[in-house]
Amino acid sequence: MKYDTLKDPRIEKILHLIMEYAGGNLEAKVDAADQFDEIDGIIGGLNMLGEELKASMVSREFLENIIQSMFDGILVLGTDMMIQEMNPSMESLPGISKKDLVNSSVDLIFGEDQDFKNHLIHELSVTGAFRGKEYRYIYKNTEKYMFVSGFGIRNNYGKIKGYILSFHDITLQKQKEEELRISAVAFESNEGIIITDPETKIIRVNRTFQKITGYSSKDVVGKKPSFLSAGHHNADFYKVMWAEINRTRKWEGEVWNRRKNGDVYIELLSITAIKDDDGNVTQYVGIFNDITKRKEAEEEIRNLAFYDPLTGLPNRRLLMENFHHALSRSERTKYFGAVIFIDLDNFKKLNDTKGHEYGDMLLFEVAGRLSSCLREVDTVARLGGDEFVILIEELSKDENQSSEIISKLAEKIQMKLNQPYNLEGYSYFSSSSIGISLYRGHDKSVSELLKFADLAMYSAKESGRNAVRFFNPVMQNKAEKFSSLEVKLRNAVLLDQFILNYQVQVNGWGLPVGTEALIRWNSPELGMMMPDQFIPVAEKINLIIDLGQWVIDTACMQLERWSHDERMKDLTLSVNVSVKQFEASDFVSKLKSAVALNGINPSLLILEITEHCLVNNVSDVISKMDELRNFGIQLSIDDFGTGYSSLSYLKQLPINQIKIDKSFLNNIPSDLNNSMMIKAIVNLAKNLNLDVLAEGVETVDQQNFLRDIGCESYQGYLFSKPIPLSEYEQYIKMNLHSR
Ligand code: C2E
Ligand code: MG
Ligand code: MG
Repeated sequence: MKYDTLKDPRIEKILHLIMEYAGGNLEAKVDAADQFDEIDGIIGGLNMLGEELKASMVSREFLENIIQSMFDGILVLGTDMMIQEMNPSMESLPGISKKDLVNSSVDLIFGEDQDFKNHLIHELSVTGAFRGKEYRYIYKNTEKYMFVSGFGIRNNYGKIKGYILSFHDITLQKQKEEELRISAVAFESNEGIIITDPETKIIRVNRTFQKITGYSSKDVVGKKPSFLSAGHHNADFYKVMWAEINRTRKWEGEVWNRRKNGDVYIELLSITAIKDDDGNVTQYVGIFNDITKRKEAEEEIRNLAFYDPLTGLPNRRLLMENFHHALSRSERTKYFGAVIFIDLDNFKKLNDTKGHEYGDMLLFEVAGRLSSCLREVDTVARLGGDEFVILIEELSKDENQSSEIISKLAEKIQMKLNQPYNLEGYSYFSSSSIGISLYRGHDKSVSELLKFADLAMYSAKESGRNAVRFFNPVMQNKAEKFSSLEVKLRNAVLLDQFILNYQVQVNGWGLPVGTEALIRWNSPELGMMMPDQFIPVAEKINLIIDLGQWVIDTACMQLERWSHDERMKDLTLSVNVSVKQFEASDFVSKLKSAVALNGINPSLLILEITEHCLVNNVSDVISKMDELRNFGIQLSIDDFGTGYSSLSYLKQLPINQIKIDKSFLNNIPSDLNNSMMIKAIVNLAKNLNLDVLAEGVETVDQQNFLRDIGCESYQGYLFSKPIPLSEYEQYIKMNLHSR
């Protein structure tokens, strides 16, 4: 490092003094001194002058005084490098006293660094001058930095007779440099840094700032950081921020800014006000991290937790959250709101026939259509499967008016969902069943309201689908009954409260050929319950599988008993099998074991299944039917004509019998439609070589009509109602005798 000697006022002063004392004589010597541009040079010059001036006007004593009072340390060495003299400043070096130093080797100072000493000695002895070098002096853990320089003192003949070394203390300067270096390193950290003046104009930014924002230092210096704002925060946000900085000197929080390329980023920013000793702000320092990626990850997690991945709609959890807030708002505003429950009709059929990809496409499309019908503030959520829920807020303060608005909206939704869908070229029509329940404030809980809308939706489904229903308390009663029934029904299975009734089936001559086993629930609490009252519940809670197995086991046992009875042993026994029961993977094997266990003739057992069994997975159904038929069991299609299936599949099915649903027998023969329908079914059965049985025959006219068109098996009140076992056996005894 350079030490600008000529700028040192002390040196100037010395020179001035010398000039004053020495007069014109000295000019040439001062020239020589000027050649040194270091302080030691000047000192050297002075000493040389000193030597020569001994005999002239400036006394050695005077020069010595100057040297003694100099700020820099001065050592006088002999040619043997032994210390001869030193000035008091030299003693400011820790551990050094004049007593120790004089007559000691210069090693006392440079002992720690032999290289430095050797270099110094070499330079001095070869060139007569040591041009100055930084030396780190360490003694007893204290560190000092010296700028050491020196020169040789020559005698009148130019021969070196000793050396003078000067020590300029640069420790403070080094410390400052180090501090600067550290702060420079800190400034170039991985965090973005902005330094502004008290008016918040940017003075400096670091490289990370430039990397994060895309702005160069030139772009931003002189501007206020607010130019980065993404417009996400309002004025209040910044007001609160500055209030805090003014109060506590610090603020920390998340700020949305915009990069030079227009992208918004989120930074975690901490601002500190730097103050001087008088408490005035000198700078503001903002240090920030770009946390956009972290935020995005958080957002993604949030999305997964709160949104349905298929449709992107809020899921049940988010709906519930929004719903709670909506109820609180409604409590305050007294406005009615509504929750709309939507279920797509026959969605399962699309899934089963075309595959899940098509199902997914439809759901995605439905989600888009629903969203398009709604305002931004409304929530449309997918609960799962084909169930969607819409939450509408602020309808009106009047209940009737609210109902009107929501009815119109529901119709609009329904129309929109009824428009044809184009699922990758496959054109599809879908309808929906919609249930609505109104809310105001906290009158009802969120889960109650959802349940009400769900019930209303069910009622829409029951009414034949493609309908809109408002919730009403009757539905609730029904639902409550349903759930209380659920518990009772489960217990009924354990308590063996079921019985079978038997309804005879007769041929064209009115003679019994078989019977249908029809289940009853003999409940001590509820009385004798008919299948319509509990089978749907059993289906819903999957109890039907156990119940159905009980029916099959009982029927097989019954056939076994009848096999020993001459009058009964040839009569068939039909049992009803529900869809879920039939679909169970172990249905066939369980049935076979029941037959085998009881050792009965399988051809006397007729399984009645409905067309609903044929809706899903037809090939699986057919292979099960084949297996049953090969085993010898007979199959019948119950309630024929009421299902949705086309008649063409009948050809493929290994069935024995079709049972015409009793609804077709209403008002025949006068009802032309029904009559035609029955004729068609009978013809079809004949063509396919199937037995055809008409159920619900109540009148002789009906029987005659049926016989006339070729249907010769009947079941109905005309012959017998479903009756308990003993009565049925009695009936057979009476009627077979009359054969
Ligand atoms: P289904 O299999 O079609 O049974 C015929 C139904 O028609 C029986 O009603 C029977 O009582 C009724 N019925 C018969 N003849 C006449 C008539 O002349 N006039 C009128 N009005 N009705 C007549 P039920 O016993 O109430 O059974 C209703 C339905 O419950 C059955 O319809 C069947 O689908 C189901 N079901 C009955 N038992 C079982 C069972 O063990 N398992 C399953 N899964 N379902 C069963
Ligand atoms: Mg039946
Ligand atoms: Mg039937």
